[in-house]
Formats: sequence, structure tokens, C-alpha cells
Amino acid sequence: MDIIFVASESTPFIKTGGLADIVQALGKNLAQNHHISVFLPLYRKIKYKWYDQLEHLGHFFTLHQYVGIEKLTDENVTYYFIDNELLFGREHPYGYADDGFRFGFFSRAVLDSIGFLNLSCDVLHLHDWHTGLIPFILKTYHMRDPRYQSIKTILTIHNLQFQGIFNLKLRYSLELLEHQDYVFDNCLNFLKAGIQCSHYITTVSPTYRNETFTAQFGCRLENILASRQEQYLGILNGIDYQLFNPMTDQTIHINYQPKLTKETLKAKLDNKKALLKELGLKHLNKKPLYVMITRITGQKGFDLLNTVLPSFLSEPINFVMLGSGEAYFSDFLHHLHRQYDNFFFYDGYNELLAQKLYASADFLVMPSAFEPCGLAQIIALRYGTIPIVHETGGLKDTIIPYNEYEKTGNGISFSGYYAENLAWALHYSQTLFKQQTHQQTLLTNAFSSDFSMETCTKKYLELYQLLID
Ligand code: ADP
Repeated sequence: MDIIFVASESTPFIKTGGLADIVQALGKNLAQNHHISVFLPLYRKIKYKWYDQLEHLGHFFTLHQYVGIEKLTDENVTYYFIDNELLFGREHPYGYADDGFRFGFFSRAVLDSIGFLNLSCDVLHLHDWHTGLIPFILKTYHMRDPRYQSIKTILTIHNLQFQGIFNLKLRYSLELLEHQDYVFDNCLNFLKAGIQCSHYITTVSPTYRNETFTAQFGCRLENILASRQEQYLGILNGIDYQLFNPMTDQTIHINYQPKLTKETLKAKLDNKKALLKELGLKHLNKKPLYVMITRITGQKGFDLLNTVLPSFLSEPINFVMLGSGEAYFSDFLHHLHRQYDNFFFYDGYNELLAQKLYASADFLVMPSAFEPCGLAQIIALRYGTIPIVHETGGLKDTIIPYNEYEKTGNGISFSGYYAENLAWALHYSQTLFKQQTHQQTLLTNAFSSDFSMETCTKKYLELYQLLID
């Protein structure tokens, strides 16, 4: 099959969250048997870092703007970058007043590039709101051209909270045909257009799919999604087990097998000691290390943490927080960092530190209010770090609560999004940690959990096949 992905981010080029990981991992896995191309904007960071490997394929104009196409091949996947210095040559991928025009332009440029390059395409797999207008533009403009007529579109929603909502007037500069498909609440809504016009919709876990039909999780699009429920599937994300492998990970202090052995336990402890020393935290013998690696935003449970952390930090534990985001929460974390000598807050994005934390920690805390899938808890399992999660979305689909009697479960979870429930889960983890047999059973179960890309890739392939037939 000829499959084309369109996304706003993908590792190894640019990453702000789990979307980047999954685009790369899925592309790489599919590329073993199919032709995979990925379209991305040529952000400044990519241009600078990969400059000498980019091949210029040509240029044209769309919406009165320059569209350059640069190409690079990595692990059998062909990456096409849409170049426009004015729109993408900036410090960050998102967060600008003209994001609506930037990604509307990107969407049109991608569709035009498929024709310009004469690419054959069976499935156009779109990711998140940035690409939501593509099925609409395809339907209203490109379908007249026979080269586009057999293309099937899939939109994967990685987070329904981000919809790309802009002033309706944007439709003039994007030269969109007047239509209700992209209108919601009298605004231009990219994601709504994608849900309405793509052949199929997926999201990143079965539980989150069902949650999105409710007013609580549907972010006001629940009825639109319900109207398409026959063509809407939840496919659980996985991670690249070659990339996330504690045995070969070059970024951690001491490598270890992803299974429970004496050597693994010792390596994890040595990693913990090295990390704590590096961060200037005291190593407390036989005391657990808790970590969070996250965007700092309400979604990730920070309202509960604001209540729970101060008293939890008075316990004999260490806690390292790595994240960046909303000042409302991060100001408080800075305050805790000054107040408690067992708490370290790294305010920023740091992939090297993230890997060290996965390798060193005993527990990963992830009390998300909602979580479409979540990759941090899956990476944590792979590194033998026990997730403590709120039972929602993909966290519910990946973390089975520990059962002391049956010795089942790969993590600790709480239902009911309340501070006292999180406090209970944190204290319960301390109790289990003190009892070696429980801690080791949990570790065995964590290491034997399988969220590699194979199952996920198979499900997407089945869907592609269903659409093509
Ligand atoms: P989301 O996509 O909602 O941000 P996920 O759990 O699905 O959350 O994916 C987050 C990914 O980004 C994980 O790979 C995690 O390790 C990484 N990550 C998040 N915050 C940081 C950070 N501050 N520094 C480094 N990596 C981070």
C-alpha cells in the first residue's frame, strides 16, 4: 500500500508530546512492508539540524505563498517537509496568532504537493487538528483531479481538547468553499471538519473513544462524533521497543535487561543513586523515588497535585518533576522546589533527563484528568518503573491495578478524580514498596506487559485494508 501520513510533529525531527513518538514508530513499522511517506512542516529547528541531508525537490505557490518541498529518508520512511520561511521558520512549532493560517496553508500545500510530486496514495492518514481541513479541501478541490479520486482519508485524534478553533473569517484567506462542515459555534473548527469529512476516524485507545461520546470528555464535539460512531475506532498506541530499551539506551547511566533479575534491580538502584547525585538530592536508603515527565497543564492532574504534593513531600521519599507548561502550576512547583529538599523541579523539555528518570525511578505518577492514550506510563513499564494512574482513557487500557492476593496488575490506579484518591494511591505505593515481594511482583508484571508497536500496526493495517477494499 502507498500510505501518506500528515502530522505537525514527528521524532526524530520535532517533538512536543506523544504524537511525535507515535508518528515515527507507526511509520517505521508499516515501512517494513509498505510505502510510507510523512509530510511535516519545515520548522526552523529541523532546517538547521538536518540542513545537509535535505534534498530540494522543487517549489510552487499556493494561497499566494511559497511552497518548497524538501525530502529526507530515514529508516525506510520518506519524509517530505513543507518549506515556507515566513510561516514555519520560527522558534516553536505552535502558539502563534496565525496558527490557523499556518496549518490551513500546510494542509493545502500537502495536497498540492501530492499532485506536484505525482505521488501514488491509497490512504492519507491525518493526525490531529492541524490536518483536519485536509479531507474537506480534498473533497471540494482536488477530487476533480483523477489522481486524487481513490484516496481514502483517516483522521486520528490524539487529543480532542485541541481542535484548532479560529475566527470564521479565516476561511477567506484559506480560500475555503463556504460550507457547514468546518463551522462549529460560529467559528472555523479544523477538527470538526476532519471528523465530518474523513472516511474514517480513530483515536488512541478504546476507552477514550467511548469517553468522547460523553459531555464530560467530548469537548463539545460528542454529538458530532456520535453521528460518525460507525466509522470511529479506538486503537491503542504502542511504543518502539527498539528505541525504548533499557538494555541499549545510550542516555542512561547503567543499562539493564527489561526483566526482573538481581542485576536489573541493582542497575536500577545505581541509576537512581547517580541521578539523585546529579540533581543534588539526598539518596535515602530504601526509600522510593517518584517521577513525573509531562506537559504541565490541567489535563495532567496538577489541580490534584497542588493539594496532595505538600504533605506527600513530608514523607521519606524523593520526587523529581520534569515538565514545562502553564505558569499557574509551574510557579507552585518552583515554590515546592525551594521549600523541600527532596523535591526537584526541572522546568523545561529535556529528553535526556526524561530517559534517566524512566530508568531510575520506582514510580511514575500520572494522575491525568483525562488521557487519550498516554505514552509515559507505557515507557515507564518498559523501564521497570511502576505507574500510579487515574483510571481514565488509555491509562485504564494499559494499567491493570495491582491485586495483592492474586499477584496480578502492573501498576496502581485510583478511580474518582479527587485529591484524596490520589493521596491514597501514593500512600499505597509506599506500603507496597516496603514489601519486597509485592514490589518485585509488580516489576515482573510491568516488564511482561506488551505495548510494542506490532499490535497497533496490525490494527491500522486492517483498517487501511478495509477502506481500500
Ligand atoms: P502527551 O502527548 O499528552 O503530552 P504522552 O504521555 O502521550 O503525553 O507523551 C508524552 C511524551 O513526551 C513522552 O514520550 C514523554 O516522555 C515526553 N515528555 C513529556 N514532557 C517532557 C519533557 N518536559 N521533557 C522530555 N520529554 C517529555
